[in-house]
Amino acid sequence: MKKIVIAGGGFAGVELYKTLHKKLHGSPAVRFQMVSDKNYFLFYPMLHEVATGSVERNHITQPLREIVNCCVETVTETQIQKIDVAQKKLVTDSGEINYDYLVVALGVRPNYFGIPGAHENCTTFKSIDDAVVVRNQLIDHFEKAAREKDAAVRKELLATIIIGGGPSGVELAGQISDLIHTELRELYQEVDIHEASITLIDAGDRLLRQMHPSLSAAAAARLQKMGVTIMLNAKVEGCTKNGVTVAGSGELRAGLRVWAAGMESSVRGLVAAELLAAHGGLATTASLQLVGHPEVFVIGDVAEIVFPEKVMVPQTAQAATAEAAHAAQNMYNLLTHQPVRPFKFVSKGDIVPIGDWFAVGQLGAFRFSGRIMWIIRRYVFLQRMWSLRNRTKVCLDWIMRALMRRDTSRL
Ligand SMILES: Cc1cc2nc3c(=O)[nH]c(=O)nc-3n(C[C@H](O)[C@H](O)[C@H](O)COP(=O)(O)OP(=O)(O)OC[C@H]3O[C@@H](n4cnc5c(N)ncnc54)[C@H](O)[C@@H]3O)c2cc1C
Repeated sequence: MKKIVIAGGGFAGVELYKTLHKKLHGSPAVRFQMVSDKNYFLFYPMLHEVATGSVERNHITQPLREIVNCCVETVTETQIQKIDVAQKKLVTDSGEINYDYLVVALGVRPNYFGIPGAHENCTTFKSIDDAVVVRNQLIDHFEKAAREKDAAVRKELLATIIIGGGPSGVELAGQISDLIHTELRELYQEVDIHEASITLIDAGDRLLRQMHPSLSAAAAARLQKMGVTIMLNAKVEGCTKNGVTVAGSGELRAGLRVWAAGMESSVRGLVAAELLAAHGGLATTASLQLVGHPEVFVIGDVAEIVFPEKVMVPQTAQAATAEAAHAAQNMYNLLTHQPVRPFKFVSKGDIVPIGDWFAVGQLGAFRFSGRIMWIIRRYVFLQRMWSLRNRTKVCLDWIMRALMRRDTSRL
């Protein structure tokens, strides 16, 4: 019997299990084991809605044991410390795990690019806990501002800085603005809402650089209309507990500082350096296997295709699941002595929501912004959730949100 270990229970790991399991169900020849540091799958695209109270936190998570539940040896919640491809084993906090075939789907983690104070003084935006911290800090600062007499202190408390003008930063800025100008404006009458500010900082010359420039412009115009200040070509030089220092602009003081600026591969430090490619991902072949190790498949954000030539694949859930489905077929081919095939990514489109009832998106050659895009995005992402239970819960959250106030309790 061969043991297939899937490292990482995110978009790529779960999709690979689902697709490969369908092909191998009932076969006595294989058993699966999933290893991940959280016991649940997290649906990141709705994290900004959790951070602003539109969606409940446990409505976008699902226990891995519910999803990975057939032909499985076990699902292990533990931190992987080392991947030893020579000995075919993982070294984890709970001991060693041997494999015959390995799937590495460990994703990425925040990268502070060595900026002083960023790690200590900014909240990242990559987990449920991060979303809860953002929500709590925002509401806590409104509570404090409501009883603060000093105008300068109030302004600092009510200031939010988001570093990173990619999809996560843009989505979050839009949602926070929405929350401030609806529920928080109504509930905190003692606070002058004009003292609240949101600043979105990016080192590049436009927001949403993976999209067409016209959509970047539409996103910027929408955010500015929502009261968000956008700073482009702005290099963050340091962060403190009071604010962020930007080259040429000095220190901008803000109570809430969110780091949404960059990610690095989660396998840095877990594998031998020679297995890494130029950007820190695992050096991967076009058939999604680790270079020199055909028994190891690499998928999702951690994959960096470099052989026989470099291929850029975006770090999105869409690409991660496409890679996973392809790798599942290739692993099946390997197990049944058939040739593996190269992966080719064809984007189905990208949509970024900005506050309520507005999104920018490109679908093939078509580019749109506005309500229709926002509705399409909601529909598409709802379909991508694994369980009917989560889909129903999120739908109910959205209905409640349309009919009544968001919950602004500080949890
Ligand atoms: C806020 C946010 C919003 C996003 N919105 C969108 C969107 O709208 N559309 C879109 O297409 N994409 C979006 N993305 C990107 C998308 O979520 C990622 O591209 C996708 O999750 C990649 O899948 P993955 O399986 O490679 O990694 P992940 O889904 O991150 O899964 C990796 C898993 O490995 C686990 N892990 C990591 N290191 C270890 C370790 N050492 N030991 C054990 N387990 C470990 C992690 O905890 C995680 O469960 C968003 C991302 C974020 C952060």
